[in-house]
Amino acid sequence: MNAEILAVGHELLMGEIVDTNSSYIAQQLSGTGITVRWMSHVGDNIDHLSEAFKRGLERSDVVISTGGLGPTSDDLTREAVSNAVGEEMAVDPDILSWLEGVFARRGMEMPPTNIKQATLIPSATSIPNPNGTAPGWWVEKDDKHIVIMPGPPRELKQVWEETVGPRFAEISGSGVTATRTLKTLGLSEGGIDEILSDLFGRENPYLGIYAHTDGIHLRMIGRGPDQTAAEKVIEPVEAEIRGLIGDSIWGTDDDTPAQRAGSLLIDRNQMLAIVEGASAGALASMLHARPERESFFRGALVPGSGPVHVGHDTAPANPDGAITLAQLARESLSADVGVSVTPINMDGGNVYIGMVSDAGSHVETGRFPRRNPEWLMQRSATTAIVQLMSALSSNRI
Ligand code: ATP
Repeated sequence: MNAEILAVGHELLMGEIVDTNSSYIAQQLSGTGITVRWMSHVGDNIDHLSEAFKRGLERSDVVISTGGLGPTSDDLTREAVSNAVGEEMAVDPDILSWLEGVFARRGMEMPPTNIKQATLIPSATSIPNPNGTAPGWWVEKDDKHIVIMPGPPRELKQVWEETVGPRFAEISGSGVTATRTLKTLGLSEGGIDEILSDLFGRENPYLGIYAHTDGIHLRMIGRGPDQTAAEKVIEPVEAEIRGLIGDSIWGTDDDTPAQRAGSLLIDRNQMLAIVEGASAGALASMLHARPERESFFRGALVPGSGPVHVGHDTAPANPDGAITLAQLARESLSADVGVSVTPINMDGGNVYIGMVSDAGSHVETGRFPRRNPEWLMQRSATTAIVQLMSALSSNRI
């Protein structure tokens, strides 16, 4: 089956928000036998939207949209679908009483504009949206499917997991999918591609390779009649990958470098202190977000702008300065491991990550182009946490 995804909203066309919904849906469909052929962004304009749905019905078996299901006059997805299939919208009493109940529980009277969120067309069934006031529609007509869902990602995810995903699995006969991601560090995409060349290109499990800021991820998608069978499909391939590049794998699925670095420190019974120039507190936030922080994170020094002073001297923004700063963090906060992220000027350049423990010291360099300060902060914090995780796991510090 061919599918296309329409992301609806002027905010997308203005570049004000990034379309994560289409990526989410495409990821969910991958490996199901429903192939995404097109993705489009359409503004809140009834003619453009109607045209997009009509064209979708001509060339695809499945048209899936997100957004434009709100109560206001510029939320026009329902109207566009009813134009495209030539059916009239009418208020559905069951949806209306559910919607009135949602407002009553919030202690509010339902504004009349929300009534359109309780409408259906004859060939549509309602898709429950437990997180919001906009139920979706599943339209089935002439062997084609149109599925319209809410725009807010949290609502979309729940609607997908509870209703849309399982129904597509049934329709496509693909059964259930299971996924497993292995996260690697130290190997290039090309290097992994070469080592695992025999495993790519298979249908079940499908193996994808993706470059991320914390290394190369390998994602396996297995299919089977039920969850256990789908997971069984993945097992031998995971074992084979681990046999070939196991040393480079640092985590799986939702593991993050901050969580991994934290657990390595906890295993060693060591506390960490950091001093942050370029990352300006972003690294501390990452570590602070870990629920087990008290067992490994002593704290952070975040200087204001300009060079960092150690005693009467200024720590230079170079590898030696990075070690001096890491030592400063370690000593002044009585920690076992010290990490520094050196300052950077806003034109970009090098950031040095200094790392010190009783076992030794190590410096890594991140080279960044000129970007906005927010980007530099986040990127240098990510580089620092990945390098810390790597230095701890290889016992370089
Ligand atoms: P609501 O009832 O909240 O108005 P809706 O279905 O009408 O829901 P939109 O108004 O189109 O949805 O979008 C609401 C918000 O959801 C947007 O402001 C944006 O934050 C988020 N959103 C919408 N579409 C996308 C998308 N494609 N990717 C990521 N976020 C999105």
